[in-house]
Amino acid sequence: MSGKWLPFELAWYDTRIFNCSFCGIMMAREYWVDDEFPGEMFCEDKCAGVKRRLRAEFAEAKAQGRVADAGQAGEAKDV
Ligand SMILES: [Zn+2]
Repeated sequence: MSGKWLPFELAWYDTRIFNCSFCGIMMAREYWVDDEFPGEMFCEDKCAGVKRRLRAEFAEAKAQGRVADAGQAGEAKDV
């Protein structure tokens, strides 16, 4: 998978807390930005990988008519 690790560059008084956009875990010093999911922050490249796999499986299920509607299933957003 391709993407990159980026450090959080926050001022000392900045108390924002960032959570992984996939699993929701709190992230401290750096985060993973995946080329496939721009704008999302992951705690690990593995999280982006799982999301990618779920999306692929969901697309496959949909293609086979096992899933009626796209909806949010398989996206696991905002956990
Ligand atoms: Zn995560």
